[in-house]
Amino acid sequence: MSILKVARMGHPVLRAKARPLEKSEILSAPMQKLIDDMFDTMREYHGVGLAGPQVHEGLRLFVALLDPGDSDDERDREPPAPIVIINPEITVVDAAMVEDWEGCLSIPDIRGRVRRAREIRVRALDRKGGRIELRAQGFPARVIQHETDHLDGVLFFDRMKSFESLTFLDEYSRFHRPED
Ligand SMILES: [Zn+2]
Repeated sequence: MSILKVARMGHPVLRAKARPLEKSEILSAPMQKLIDDMFDTMREYHGVGLAGPQVHEGLRLFVALLDPGDSDDERDREPPAPIVIINPEITVVDAAMVEDWEGCLSIPDIRGRVRRAREIRVRALDRKGGRIELRAQGFPARVIQHETDHLDGVLFFDRMKSFESLTFLDEYSRFHRPED
């Protein structure tokens, strides 16, 4: 396993549009290793999502931990499911916008409140090149929208209506973190 270097805000790779992957490319050994390394890197830095451009690869894929316990249907706490999403296409199911806190491994130690669509459907390919479709709402929907934005060179700052909520992580923990 390898921990990859994470691009930080200001690196041009984070502002470029990433390119889609062909199925044959997905199945290649280097791409399978990249996916494994992205999972390792996300875990190492305690992220819930990591997109190709964040590890200096201009490719339309991301890895994420989607927490099923966070969706509105009240299944009790299952562990977050690790998932790789390739060439995602998002359709908004419920356009009601929900504002909540986000962070980003490319913008370390900063949190800010971002409005996202409440519920989405995503069509994509998995790591075997097979078609997948999933619906997500709440926090998992937020993660998918944040990571898909990375594939188009968009950072969460760009989605903020106001910078008033921007906060450093320490201050977030002291003043803003919701009570569990
Ligand atoms: Zn991010």
